[in-house]
Amino acid sequence: MTAVENANAGEQYEQYTPSFAEYWDDLVGWDDRLERDGPFYGRLLNAHGAKDVADVACGTGVNAVALALGGFKVTATDGSENMLEKARENAKARGATFNKSCVADWLTLDDTLGKEQYDAIVCLGNSFTHLFDHEQRRDALHAMFRTLRPGGMLIIDHRNYDTMLDEGYSSKHAYNYCGDGVDVGPAQLHRGLAQFHYTFKDGRTFQLNMYPLRQNYVTHLLEDAGFVNVERYGDMQRPFILNQVDFIQQVAFRP
Ligand code: SAM
Repeated sequence: MTAVENANAGEQYEQYTPSFAEYWDDLVGWDDRLERDGPFYGRLLNAHGAKDVADVACGTGVNAVALALGGFKVTATDGSENMLEKARENAKARGATFNKSCVADWLTLDDTLGKEQYDAIVCLGNSFTHLFDHEQRRDALHAMFRTLRPGGMLIIDHRNYDTMLDEGYSSKHAYNYCGDGVDVGPAQLHRGLAQFHYTFKDGRTFQLNMYPLRQNYVTHLLEDAGFVNVERYGDMQRPFILNQVDFIQQVAFRP
């Protein structure tokens, strides 16, 4: 197939067509990703005493599976049934069990999962970038806030769009999307849009439209939703030098 596949109608998760879901794991590069992510998120969640954890952008399951194997009681949700189906397959193949898995849109997360249910929510792999509307971002974070128990923790990550916008795109390909032989890069990059192209080993090409989230803006949104004590990591380290990291992790708490 030569045409770029991009389902752009409706909600942003509709970009994750059945065929893109099939290719997603090649991009994720599970083994490298688990080696880096697993211990970092496991440590953070354990340090906070979290047991019930919802991965609300589980995609094909890389973090949800790692957390379930790490002993957390995991609820895996995603807006895309295609991605969730792959997550269930991957969990089964790796011997992981989800406490619950269901389709859930962030905007109505507390209606779907119930209020004050979780010790922690994770929204990883640069997922939050899929909302294009300020009000929707605010409403989504409010819904996540309500889904957490008081004292609960939200971990959300995003690409380092600040440096991308200010200095241009470069990537170490060492975090989140580590898959071998997948060519990833922005086709368009400006304040209102980061459009990434993904070319896989067999020549198949997909694209995703994303909103370039600046780190201060995300922190502001978190605080606006009521979260406190927001801490940032750069490529899972603190302190960090902004233009030397690919991804920012923001950790926030419901008081
Ligand atoms: N966390 C996974 C990973 O790291 O591989 C998946 C990341 S993928 C970039 C983003 C995921 O967010 C997709 O699976 C997509 O379906 C989901 N998503 C996008 N918008 C959503 C929304 N409004 N509600 C729930 N999930 C959404």
